Amino acid sequence: MDRRQFLRRTGALCASVSASALLGTTAGCSGPSPTPATASTTSAPPGPPTWSELAQSLTGSLVLPSDTAFATAKLLYNERFDGVVTPAAIARCASVSDVQRCVDFTRRSGVAITARSGGHSYGGYSLCDGLVVDVGALSSISLDRATSTATVGAGALLIDIYDTLGTEGVLVPGGSCPTVGIAGLTLGGGIGVFDRLYGLTCDNLRSLRIVIADGSTMTADPSEHANLLWACQGGGGGNFGIVTSFDFAVQPVPADLSLFTLDWPWSAATEVLGAWQGWVPTQPDELWSNCELSSGPSGELVRVSGVFVGTPGTLDSLLAPLISAAGSQPSGHFVGSESYLSAMFVEAGCAGKTVSQCHLPTQTADGTLPRAAYAAKSTYVLDAFGSSALAATLEAVASAQQVAPGFGVALLFDAYGGAINRVPASATAFVHRDALAGVQMTASWGSGAEPADASAWLDQAASALAPYTTGAYQNYIDPTLADWQDAYYGANLPRLVEVKRAVDPEDLFHFAQSIPTTLSS
Ligand SMILES: Cc1cc2nc3c(=O)[nH]c(=O)nc-3n(C[C@H](O)[C@H](O)[C@H](O)COP(=O)(O)OP(=O)(O)OC[C@H]3O[C@@H](n4cnc5c(N)ncnc54)[C@H](O)[C@@H]3O)c2cc1C
Repeated sequence: MDRRQFLRRTGALCASVSASALLGTTAGCSGPSPTPATASTTSAPPGPPTWSELAQSLTGSLVLPSDTAFATAKLLYNERFDGVVTPAAIARCASVSDVQRCVDFTRRSGVAITARSGGHSYGGYSLCDGLVVDVGALSSISLDRATSTATVGAGALLIDIYDTLGTEGVLVPGGSCPTVGIAGLTLGGGIGVFDRLYGLTCDNLRSLRIVIADGSTMTADPSEHANLLWACQGGGGGNFGIVTSFDFAVQPVPADLSLFTLDWPWSAATEVLGAWQGWVPTQPDELWSNCELSSGPSGELVRVSGVFVGTPGTLDSLLAPLISAAGSQPSGHFVGSESYLSAMFVEAGCAGKTVSQCHLPTQTADGTLPRAAYAAKSTYVLDAFGSSALAATLEAVASAQQVAPGFGVALLFDAYGGAINRVPASATAFVHRDALAGVQMTASWGSGAEPADASAWLDQAASALAPYTTGAYQNYIDPTLADWQDAYYGANLPRLVEVKRAVDPEDLFHFAQSIPTTLSS
C-alpha cells in the first residue's frame, strides 16, 4: 500500500468511524414542570418571560422557527435526528452572560433547555423541544506557556484545537472526528490516539467554568468545587450545567510520529482479532491502535491501524509480533512517518484539505465534510477473547449482509490500557479503567431516519458480544440501553447523583439519560 492509497483508505475509515451514533428515537430533554413560553412580544410581569425579551437580552442571537437560519441552525451532525425534535428556539450565545440569561429564562419559564457544542451527541440529546443553548461561538483557544495550560472555549471543535495548539508545538489528547465539540468529548471522557500515552481528554482537564441551574457561574478546580470538577471528568455532557470554557494541561507535540495500517483478508479475521487482543497489552504507551472488522455490500475486511509516537523503524519491530501471531502476512501494509498536524488530518479523514475545509459546510464557508446517518452501540472488553467470543464476534459481522443487506457495519475495537488504566476508577467520574479495549458497533446508511434493519443488526451484534463484554461508553450514548446508569457510570453513580443534587436540585438539565437527582432503588 503506498502513501496515497493509505491516506485515501484512512479517510474512508474515518467516514466509517463517523458512522457511529445511536439507536431508537431521540427522547428530547424536558425541563421541570414545563410552562411553555410563547413567541408573544407582550410581557406581563411577573409572568413568564417571552422569547423577544430573551432575544433582546443576548449579545448573540436567538434563532426562532420563523427565521430563515432556523432550518440549518437546528441540524445535528447525524441526519437521523432531522425533523425528529424541533426546538422552540436556538440561542447562539456570544458570552458567558448570554448563557446565564438562557438558564435564567428557562428556569423562570419552565421551558426545557439543553446545551450544544459540536452537535455530535449519539442520542441527539443536544436537541430538545425547548431552548437549545449553542455555545459554538465560545470557541477561543489560548495557551499559557508558563503553566502549560490551554484555555479552550466550550464550543471549540477538535480540528481547530489541534491546529491552533499544534502550531504552538503542544496538544491536548482528543478524538478523531474533526468536528466533534470539546465540551461533549471532555465531559464524557475523550478517547483518542494519544490516550495510552497521555490519558483521556478528561484526565488532562485542570479546571472549567460552568453556569449552573441557578444561573450563577462557578469555577471548578481541585481546590474549589472539586466534586464538580470530578463529575465533569467523564460524568457525561448536559448533566450539571453549561460549561463555558475548559483549562487543559498540554503535552508536547511528538518529534517523531508514525502511522500504520495493516489489512488482512476476511479469512484471517479470527486470527487477527485474537492476535491483536493478545498484543495490545504488551505494547508501550506510545503505541495506540484499533482493530476493525467491517462488512459492506462489497464484502468483509479486517484492519489494524494506529499511531505510534516514535519512528517507523521502531514501529516495524513492534508490529512484527502481531503479524507473526496473526499467522499470515497482511494483504495491505503501510507504515510511515507524519508530522503531528498531518497525522491528525489523516485520522480526521481530512488529508489534503485545509483546516477550513475540514469542517461541515454549516461551520465554515468552504467546509467540505458531509453529515452522516448512522446508529451505534458500545461495550468494553476486559480480557482477551477466547475461541467462543471470537467466533461470536466474527459471526456477528459475517451475518451482517443477511440481517442488514447493503448496510455498512463495523465492530471497532479501540485499545485502552497505558495511562488510561493507571487512573483509579474512582479518581474521576470516568469509571472504565480496566478495559483492554472499547468496542463500538456501528451501522450506517445513506441518509434520513434509521431503517429497521440497522437496529436489528446492532441488537444482534450487541447480544452476540454481551456474554464476553461489560459496560458502555457514555460518549457513545445509547438511548436503547436499558441499564445505562450502571453501564456508563458503575460505582461512580452515587457520587454523580450527589453532585447533581448539589448543583441542579430541581433537575433543570434533564434528558432521557441524564444523571438523576436521586438514586433509584
Ligand atoms: C463522527 C464521530 C466521531 C467521534 N469520535 C470520537 C472519538 O474519537 N473519541 C471519543 O471519545 N468520542 C468520539 N465521538 C463521540 C463524541 O465524543 C460524543 O458524541 C460527544 O458527546 C460529542 O460532543 P459534541 O459537543 O460534539 O456534541 P453535542 O451534541 O453538542 O453534545 C453532547 C452532549 O454534551 C452536552 N453538551 C454540549 N455542550 C455542552 C456544554 N457546553 N456544557 C455542558 N454540556 C454540554 C449536550 O447537551 C449533549 O448531551 C465521536 C462522535 C462522532 C459523531
